[in-house]
Amino acid sequence: MLAAEDSPVVERTGTDEGVHVYDVIVVGARVAGAATALQFAEAGHRVLMVDRARFPSDKLSTLYIHQPGVDRLARWGVLDAVVATGCPALDRAVYQVADVRLTGCSLPAGDQRAAYAPRRHLLDKILIDAAVAAGVEFREGTSVAGAVFDGDRAVGVEFRAERAGRTGERAHLVVGADGMRSTMAKKLGADFVVQDPLRTCAYYSYWAGLPADFELYERPGNWIGVVPTNDATLIASYSPQAEFDVVRADPRAHYLESIRTTAPALYDRAMAAEQVDRMHGSGDQQNFFRQASGPGWALVGDAAHHKDSITARGINDAFWQAELLTTAVADVLHDPVALDKRLAAYADDLVDGLFECYRNTMAVGQLEVTGHKLAMLRAVAGSPRLTDRYFATASGVLTVEEFDDDELDAALSG
Ligand SMILES: Cc1cc2nc3c(=O)[nH]c(=O)nc-3n(C[C@H](O)[C@H](O)[C@H](O)COP(=O)(O)OP(=O)(O)OC[C@H]3O[C@@H](n4cnc5c(N)ncnc54)[C@H](O)[C@@H]3O)c2cc1C
Repeated sequence: MLAAEDSPVVERTGTDEGVHVYDVIVVGARVAGAATALQFAEAGHRVLMVDRARFPSDKLSTLYIHQPGVDRLARWGVLDAVVATGCPALDRAVYQVADVRLTGCSLPAGDQRAAYAPRRHLLDKILIDAAVAAGVEFREGTSVAGAVFDGDRAVGVEFRAERAGRTGERAHLVVGADGMRSTMAKKLGADFVVQDPLRTCAYYSYWAGLPADFELYERPGNWIGVVPTNDATLIASYSPQAEFDVVRADPRAHYLESIRTTAPALYDRAMAAEQVDRMHGSGDQQNFFRQASGPGWALVGDAAHHKDSITARGINDAFWQAELLTTAVADVLHDPVALDKRLAAYADDLVDGLFECYRNTMAVGQLEVTGHKLAMLRAVAGSPRLTDRYFATASGVLTVEEFDDDELDAALSG
């Protein structure tokens, strides 16, 4: 990361026809937006971040942050605040399919062996507070209607309703971090470059009095995830998208029946505990990459790339993109030619860096248990080392290629 003294300081504060000129405007203030704004501010830039929501506020999510995401939180100086909210360290994972049970933990990312699953109204506010403490100007309750252009170059944003006499603001770089249904993507003309059909639908609720590890259970057509969070344990059920109409007709009945049939022992534990929240769910988890940059603009987080949440990688990947973007362009924000070149490289690197996980997520989202998969899991279950390495591919610490080593080959052939 650039230190403030390394960054060029040109027109750090300026006005143009009564409009502020920022180095960066970030639209959206959750995991992608706040992380991006934080890092641009730490690199010495003048950053405006806006969000139509007011915070703290909640967000549909099963909350799990894999080890590489935890490592980024630590490096950004906010992990202590996350841990202080009381979310437990998740340093034991269980994955059961048919008669095969893996128990272990991902290899560490940096020094971080544990995953965490903080409630989103806590996590998102911690990141916003860190961004503001780093110097980001934050306007909540501010909806952006679209981008302002000079020729084909994005040079600012336009607010949906006039706010304090302002209809918009200008910046050297406009960042859309406004989620899967991104308004900025549409207004900036960011086309889809990869798209796949919907895979699953997901419902979850919270349970009190249910001690648990991070637990996953799978059978053909269903996937159950158990995620201990601050004050309760979240249990999620994933079903095929083709069943969405049936599932949403009575989400709770379908949810309980799925837990009972896929994870009977977990069902007994849940029946001895108490469900303390309503059902939450979604049948619209799109699968795509959008063109993630153009002249004067970039997308980060779900706006740039979204995939089914069954592999729980959205937060992790949003952090990764935030770091990728700021590292790529923070030292060239005032040089439009160099900036556009780096932005183009950012868009390519984003697809390169996330495509393997996307492909794996598309496969997991089929909710199929093949003989090949069971044979591989059986081989892995016999070795604590392979088990931890298997969980490390799910967390993103290892690539699939790195996982495929001599011990795995021997276990598979033996
Ligand atoms: C059911 C489900 C379970 C999930 N579980 C996990 C999990 O366990 N682990 C994980 O890592 N990921 C999970 N995800 C994915 C994760 O929640 C997302 O990837 C992540 O929230 C993306 O963050 P973001 O900042 O890109 O976008 P968002 O969180 O969508 O934030 C976008 C922000 O932009 C603001 N905004 C939108 N439009 C405008 C506008 N026009 N003007 C101003 N502001 C605007 C919104 O108010 C919002 O605050 C899950 C998703 C779902 C649906």
